[in-house]
Amino acid sequence: FDFLVHSDPAIAQILQRELQRQQAHLELIASENFTSPAVMAAQGSVLTNKYAEGLPGKRYYGGCQFVDEAETLAIERAKELFGAAHANVQPHSGAQANFAVFLALLQPGDTIMGMDLSHGGHLTHGSPVNVSGKWFEVQHYGVSPDTEQLDYDQIRDLALQHRPKLMICGYSAYPRTIHFDKFRAIADEVGAYLLADIAHIAGLVVTGHHPNPVPYCDVVTTTTHKTLRGPRGGLILTRDAELGKKLDKAVFPGSQGGPLEHVIAAKAVAFGEALRPDFKTYSAQVIENAQALAAQLQQRGCKTVSGGTDNHLVLVDLRSVGMTGKRADQLVSEVNITANKNTVPFDPESPFVTSGLRLGSPAMTTRGLGAAEFTEIADIIADRLLQPEDVAVTQNCRQRVAQLCDRFPLYPHLTGLVPA
Ligand code: PLP
Repeated sequence: FDFLVHSDPAIAQILQRELQRQQAHLELIASENFTSPAVMAAQGSVLTNKYAEGLPGKRYYGGCQFVDEAETLAIERAKELFGAAHANVQPHSGAQANFAVFLALLQPGDTIMGMDLSHGGHLTHGSPVNVSGKWFEVQHYGVSPDTEQLDYDQIRDLALQHRPKLMICGYSAYPRTIHFDKFRAIADEVGAYLLADIAHIAGLVVTGHHPNPVPYCDVVTTTTHKTLRGPRGGLILTRDAELGKKLDKAVFPGSQGGPLEHVIAAKAVAFGEALRPDFKTYSAQVIENAQALAAQLQQRGCKTVSGGTDNHLVLVDLRSVGMTGKRADQLVSEVNITANKNTVPFDPESPFVTSGLRLGSPAMTTRGLGAAEFTEIADIIADRLLQPEDVAVTQNCRQRVAQLCDRFPLYPHLTGLVPA
């Protein structure tokens, strides 16, 4: 960091201000987390200098003996974590991982089936603005209006009617358990490939706190930076080693160039961390905290989609308090809570306004907060949303956020590197 301060003070100052922002806010974006200093050290390393097109032992460049070792460790640890026969650790992101799967399994014009974006699906699962929606025929499924949970009978009916070549399960804003065995049965009935995109829940899967899709799905993709708490990136897994070779080719040369070996080394570090027993404790706490958050929000009259959560995220249906997601996002942000507006199932508002607020526990659980603190966070949010114009309440919310941030410091070893 000293090098940066001297050679580019403008960027060093920005990094310092971002560090202070992360330290002084309650980070409740469900897809974010705080990586360990070891992950950041690997990512900010000499491996960024190395070109390594190809795979370990089969590169198109010389000098790859050490990045080969790092990438092999990442692959082996990923396979061990998920119980997979094959892993590709090169996708630059979750979207890149999904694109490689499409390239490996589909032809333009094929039919795919994924969850509607407005019900919790991801852009890469067939949204018209994404390549998945432009190149393929898309049939979307949603959640049941009664339970706000997956309705496997409805999904089966749709699959029988449209006969997709690929079915996608795994979501960005779904607070409940996904039953991959039920998806497998439907995919088998219609002869479809089954892809699980576990970007959000991967950390819960590796500790056994959510069912593992690997035994049931042809391909599993994930990001490495959400509940898995690694560097930003993607990962592809499969139980089928032959299909794995096809997926490898779809990543490189199919859709990417040189792999980011510094990020791959950081993935290896994060996978190593996730293999340790304390990650299991962390994962259990992530769920306990999200459940405490949901329970207290419900208690305070802020309805949560599906009535609670089985995982790390809570989706507040703000129609229960007569507010839009856009307004709620702004209100909590004014008291230093970071979250994001999100559509709720059957949302009457546009995706830019929305009726929901998506909250998640992974990042603040990493900072050490427990269920009591998440109950307090629910109270702060409810106080803020229910009395938005009250200056004293606003002030009080800000103070309580500051107290929590002080009690649970983030990256204390990085503080004070650059004069503010
Ligand atoms: N898949 C799901 C389910 C996601 O939630 C996300 C990111 O939010 C992605 C894929 C895309 O990941 P990335 O932003 O790394 O491309």
